[in-house]
Amino acid sequence: MASLLSFLIFASLSLAHAKSNSTLTPINRDLYHSSADLLEEIKALVHRHPDKLTVETIKTGNKGYKAEITVVTYCRSRKETDDRSKFRILLSFGQHGRELITTELAFRILSILSEEQFLPDVDAASLNNTLDKLVIKVVPMENVNGRKLVEGGDLCERRNGRGVDLNRNWSVDWGKKEKDYDPYEENPGTGPFSEPETQIMRKLALTFDPHIWVNVHSGMEALFMPYDHRNTTPDGAPSEQMRSLLSKLNNVHFHKHCIIGSGGGSVGFVSLQTKNLCSFNISYFPFFLERQPLF
Ligand SMILES: [Zn+2]
Repeated sequence: MASLLSFLIFASLSLAHAKSNSTLTPINRDLYHSSADLLEEIKALVHRHPDKLTVETIKTGNKGYKAEITVVTYCRSRKETDDRSKFRILLSFGQHGRELITTELAFRILSILSEEQFLPDVDAASLNNTLDKLVIKVVPMENVNGRKLVEGGDLCERRNGRGVDLNRNWSVDWGKKEKDYDPYEENPGTGPFSEPETQIMRKLALTFDPHIWVNVHSGMEALFMPYDHRNTTPDGAPSEQMRSLLSKLNNVHFHKHCIIGSGGGSVGFVSLQTKNLCSFNISYFPFFLERQPLF
């Protein structure tokens, strides 16, 4: 599994390098697709590779508010997509509208998985041997409505199309106000899972039942693991394995720049409000489904 995550890191680093001249305003269209163009390009990519990729659009809504999320499924042999013996990975991007770089990373990863793009210095046979064992579901843009607000000029909008932070709308510690709570930025909604986008993600996670879920954000250099809602990590061997893996990735690919540990324990280390959240920095957030991600 380390090789797969290494592959993700390679993809992100090479993309980050290409985007290093990005600025906050205006959105540089030489660097960032519009949401419509990006999703259209991803669907076209899927249609060029029906042997490996499938795409579905999940829609729901309530109280006059509608949301839809595109989900791409990758399996090197499409007929084995439902093979439950394979290792299942869920990768989600664009939960916060302003974090444009993350959705570009999703496109880059799908381009590599489809073998339209390649990573330098990666042994293809070894990578394919790993990919043979996997089913990967990619949510390239979780918060399409929020992203459209950003594209309409609200450049630092992180919430969904009706002002709810999708990263505060899960059920663990819902509505809990931390010391630095910002009622505007962190509006948790009217209740847990009140938002269509969160409902879709929850259902996707429950049905796909991933072994690993990586929730990709931008804004700080961090590799977070559970818990996000408290200042500790779980006990036991799986937790140690996760920490070991993240540490290895940090050492090998991030020059030890990343914070590693519980999201909840690390939040005081860097004030997100003082960081350029639209920058290219990639944060990885592996977390358990029942845990509420923090950022
Ligand atoms: Zn975020």
